[in-house]
Amino acid sequence: MTSYSFTKIDCPCGKSINASYPMSICTWLNPYLVEEFLEGTLFSAKCKSCDQVFQINTSVLMNTPRGMWYIPTNKDLNAMKTFLIQTDVMNGEGKVYSPGEMYQKLEYNKTHKLYQKLPDS
Ligand SMILES: [Zn+2]
Repeated sequence: MTSYSFTKIDCPCGKSINASYPMSICTWLNPYLVEEFLEGTLFSAKCKSCDQVFQINTSVLMNTPRGMWYIPTNKDLNAMKTFLIQTDVMNGEGKVYSPGEMYQKLEYNKTHKLYQKLPDS
């Protein structure tokens, strides 16, 4: 289950936005959250009054088939893709694996003691 946190953003137009965002992402249970993260929509909020979009700068705990890492939500997109390929979330062509494929990789990595913390990039 994904737990969400909430933040209040004061828009220059005078309205305030109540934004919610996930505190953790389990990549094989919720691959759509990975897609939204890459699209830049997961950690952003839009003012309903003036349409201005705000990025939410925080960290999210990502549980991948290779281990768990805290990832800054403003991580560079290319660095993010490299990370996702290294952690068996995405293939070399940039496609996010299916839940079944990721689960198989998770089992394989655990059996071969590859489920661990990699050095921070
Ligand atoms: Zn506004």
